[in-house]
Amino acid sequence: MLRLHITGVGDAFTERYHNASFCIEEPQSGIRLQIDCPPAFPRVLADYRRGRREGSATAPGHDLGIDNIDALLLTHLHGDHCGGTEAYLYMRRFLLGRKPTLLGAPEVLDALWPTRLAGGMERLLQSVPTWDAAALHERSQRTPGEPTDDRDLLRDPGGPIHALGLLDYCERQDLLPGVTRLGPLRIERRFTRHHIPTTAIRVSLDGRARPLFAYSADTAFDPDLIDWLSVADLVIHETNYGTHTPLSSLLLLPPELRARMRLIHYPDALSPADCPIACLHEGQLVELP
Ligand SMILES: [Zn+2]
Repeated sequence: MLRLHITGVGDAFTERYHNASFCIEEPQSGIRLQIDCPPAFPRVLADYRRGRREGSATAPGHDLGIDNIDALLLTHLHGDHCGGTEAYLYMRRFLLGRKPTLLGAPEVLDALWPTRLAGGMERLLQSVPTWDAAALHERSQRTPGEPTDDRDLLRDPGGPIHALGLLDYCERQDLLPGVTRLGPLRIERRFTRHHIPTTAIRVSLDGRARPLFAYSADTAFDPDLIDWLSVADLVIHETNYGTHTPLSSLLLLPPELRARMRLIHYPDALSPADCPIACLHEGQLVELP
């Protein structure tokens, strides 16, 4: 069986929820795989734990945290899906000293370090430098785009510089065509229709004929993708405005499929209680037998 801990259900602009994300747990092996990592990720997990403990102090998921989520899969690099990755990797390296495994299609992960993480994470100093306020002010007066060397702006450079790369913070496991294994999990991916490379996933277990669940990630309405997802027992699908999947399109799907569908990444204006397709909610535990 699998458990899905639903840690966020909102879209990129939500004022009500955390951004869409959840954690897969396979209880026998203890494997936990987080699917997407929204901003303020430690808070996202703390809110989930608080909700679970209201039922029972030892309810499944009562301990969900960065220390026991050893793997993270990123579907794509929009900030609402990967904005917490820096905090996750920092905490794993500097507080816990244990590398996690980062999973994703190479088309997604290749850009993670240079475009999202390097600016804050590639340079560490043994002791803290002192910036020269006058030099910083002078740079702000120069023509925009004129190249500067940061070292010219330091009054005291601090200790020796350590250059770090992504693999100093984590192991990397690329999602290639076919099946990727993580413990007992069998993961397949398929690209969706989105602004940047984005993968949907199907997750199965060894010995099972059908995937237990599939997740659309962010996508425009795509009947071929829905066919691919609907092989699974449960289909988690996004819905939203703009270039996302309109609820009206999903309502045209066969009733049998809609009954196996759960919505995520829905707009604040949607009322889950009145929605004709069941919505996931934060703090929810989904058990897939
Ligand atoms: Zn997106």
